[in-house]
Amino acid sequence: MIVMKFGGTSIEDTLSVERVVGIIASRLEQCPVVVNSAMGKTTRKLLDIARLSAQGMDEKALLRLDEIGGYHFDMARSLTPDFENSDVRTTLERYFEELRRLLGGLSILRELTPRSQDRILSYGELVATTIIASALQGRGISARWLDARDFIITDEKFTRAKPLDGLTCRSIQEKVRPLVESGYVPVIQGFIGSTRSGATTTLGFEGSDFTAALAGAALDVSNIEIWKDVNGIMTADPRIFAGARTVRNITFEEASELTFFGAKVLHPGTIEPARRKNIPVNIYNSRQPDAGGTTITAQTKRGTNLVKSIAYNMPVCIINIVSNSHADPAGFLKSVFDILDREGFTPCAVTTAGTGIAMAVSVSEDMEHVIDELKRLGTVNITGEKATISLVGENIRTTRDFALVVFRNLEDVNIYMVAQGASPISLTFVVDESDIPSVIARLHEAFFKEPDPDTFD
Ligand code: ADP
Ligand code: ASP
Ligand code: MG
Repeated sequence: MIVMKFGGTSIEDTLSVERVVGIIASRLEQCPVVVNSAMGKTTRKLLDIARLSAQGMDEKALLRLDEIGGYHFDMARSLTPDFENSDVRTTLERYFEELRRLLGGLSILRELTPRSQDRILSYGELVATTIIASALQGRGISARWLDARDFIITDEKFTRAKPLDGLTCRSIQEKVRPLVESGYVPVIQGFIGSTRSGATTTLGFEGSDFTAALAGAALDVSNIEIWKDVNGIMTADPRIFAGARTVRNITFEEASELTFFGAKVLHPGTIEPARRKNIPVNIYNSRQPDAGGTTITAQTKRGTNLVKSIAYNMPVCIINIVSNSHADPAGFLKSVFDILDREGFTPCAVTTAGTGIAMAVSVSEDMEHVIDELKRLGTVNITGEKATISLVGENIRTTRDFALVVFRNLEDVNIYMVAQGASPISLTFVVDESDIPSVIARLHEAFFKEPDPDTFD
């Protein structure tokens, strides 16, 4: 059994869905379980529409909803035999009618709660899986649509819900495994789940990768395949650096560090379920199914390059706090982390001195409250328009002068913070946002001039 997850860019139009159907058809012998995101940029669009409704701009919102409806109906029509008389048409009509009613509710209440946001966003995945399941059936594949909310059971933290491990695992085994064993190809939504009392939740943006890993671990599959629009994990984000190469083999630990430090190629939660069950994760390009891609496993052959990949995170700010009470540095640090824990904030880098602490934190809409809380502990200074850069690779562990090699290449760049040692396989530092492209290009030149052919494509 394998899990195959296809993201939004892999199913953004009829042609790409047909390509995906072909890829699934080529792996039927491996008994695939299919996980889908919403199509194209649908999640983002639904969020914009929900916000418009909550501001009372109903007409504009409904117009935009009609556009999304048209996009999905067009695709469903060209992928479903006898669409007009099909169940797919009635299901899609019901979904869009429900959405219309929900948006109406928002515009009366003039409020978008995290709970209603999750409910609205869930339709992106519900609609997408309905179309994919039907396209597979149209090709003669016995696909079976399943509602992920019957088995991805989460806590009540709407918009960033955490799956309840034991319950979710048992439910997946109960609801999904028998179908595969009877020869069906289950098609399930990524990203969405449900609380125990049945309210729809989401696992956070990009959460479909995470769903794929949860399903793979629960079903003890032989491989978790994540299909994207890039040839795997690359030595840098190809949108920032055109010369990036594919990393063919990478360890769970390296991949986990990369996603923690902002590599947008995978949801950060994806690695842990796979690592726990020691299931290889493959990242492939749905536009080039025969290109090699990346394999993530517990161990890889030791390559000759010091670094596997460079991640960056932006926008970031540095929060600097000088303590009010110099007499109790340990108590001060505890208070800082208590606040971060309460507010659900994880800094990407931290350095401390006797009297204070500096933290690099991703800029987010709900930061203000945290900062107000931190101000009770001391004098707070915030420096914006920064970014973190992280170099990740197993070989860093055994290289004594690694920092020297890095910074020798960046002599004229302003470095605001350096964090090394917390993980033996990475080094993170903070630069100006505007320096990101040039710093990545220079580091890439320094560390990947002679790429080991066993590790990089
Ligand atoms: P999907 O919608 O299939 O989940 P995403 O758009 O979420 O796909 O993720 C793929 C994108 O991640 C790529 O288009 C690429 O721009 C970005 N990315 C960032 N860092 C990397 C990296 N190191 N390797 C590959 N892609 C990366
Ligand atoms: N559709 C969701 C999002 O856009 C989940 C995903 O694509 O992974 O974030
Ligand atoms: Mg994604």
